[in-house]
Amino acid sequence: MQFIDLKTQYARIKDKVDSSIMQVLEHGKYVFGPEITELEDQLAKYTGRNYCLACSSGTDALLIPLMAWEIGRGDAVFTTPFTFVATAEVISLTGATPVFIDIDKDTYNIDAELLEIAIKKVISEGKLNAKAIIPVDLFGLPADYDAIIDIAKKYNLKILEDGAQGFGGSYKGKKVCHFGEAAGTSFFPAKPLGAYGDGGAAFTDDEELFEIFQSIRVHGYGGQRYDNVRLGINGRMDSIQAAVLLAKLEIFDEEIELRNKVAKRYSQGLKNKVVIPKVPVGYESAWAQYSVLAENSNHRQEIQDKLKEANIPSAIYYPIPLHLQTAYQYLAYKKGDMPITENISERIFSLPMHPYLKDKEIDEICDII
Ligand SMILES: *Cc1c(COP(=O)(O)O)cnc(C)c1O
Repeated sequence: MQFIDLKTQYARIKDKVDSSIMQVLEHGKYVFGPEITELEDQLAKYTGRNYCLACSSGTDALLIPLMAWEIGRGDAVFTTPFTFVATAEVISLTGATPVFIDIDKDTYNIDAELLEIAIKKVISEGKLNAKAIIPVDLFGLPADYDAIIDIAKKYNLKILEDGAQGFGGSYKGKKVCHFGEAAGTSFFPAKPLGAYGDGGAAFTDDEELFEIFQSIRVHGYGGQRYDNVRLGINGRMDSIQAAVLLAKLEIFDEEIELRNKVAKRYSQGLKNKVVIPKVPVGYESAWAQYSVLAENSNHRQEIQDKLKEANIPSAIYYPIPLHLQTAYQYLAYKKGDMPITENISERIFSLPMHPYLKDKEIDEICDII
């Protein structure tokens, strides 16, 4: 059994993917080919945004908006410690300081009440300028946007939605990447919408900001060749990745539905055995991961060993919260600072999740657990 089955998906869309890739090889515009603008148009429509910027990775899709806002040394950016490292890494890369906020025990996303407390603290200490919030749609479930948007307004902070795992999900009828002054997502192959290599996209409704995104994507270019008006990066997506994504978009909504069916069957089978994921009313998850909680780390190890004996892969996202990572020792957090995150990181594990998981495979996994 596979944790994520990309081969079955490829077999389904092989003709379309192959011919789209061949088209790029034939027209020869490997960079900024017509597939890029086509993809940007479709993704902007999909998320209900005015503008989409196709770029080289999810990491760059988060870095570009922070750079565009000129966030840097002396600024505080609030985020969750229970996420992939890239969420916090982009903050540090700009020179700003990540401020970690513990998570909600049911959704594993940033806790809005604790967020407001942390913002007040940073403001009253006066050492850092509170600038932005990066909520993460962890495992595919959107963050608590109504509450977060209210807080952002109250303290005049920008929101950058990290929709790298949530693409395809929705919150109160609006798609993931619709939230915040800017949003970023990833098309890493294992994400809900995956390319055949690295890729990402940044979104905004603000035309002026979008123009800055475009400039930063190509080394801060200013309109004339070799005229560089700001610092930028090499953040382009290549045309072949866009061609693959266009082919996959055709079946994407159906795949999200299939993922939801898989999640439902898992939850039916596991509800009295482990803590199953909660999806609050009004939320739709993209199910990047189906993650459950064991009683403690020994119980988790026991279950993972049993699954392994049956050749069923499982994974831990995330075993070390970001505030306890070696790279973040300079921020001087310690064990005990984020009790919910720390507790969950000791108990959580993720099961195989993809649209093509069969009922009997799901049932076998549930039986073993
Ligand atoms: C995958 C991921 C990213 C980074 O995306 P890449 O395309 O790998 O650079 C950022 N944030 C989260 C939450 C992710 O899961």
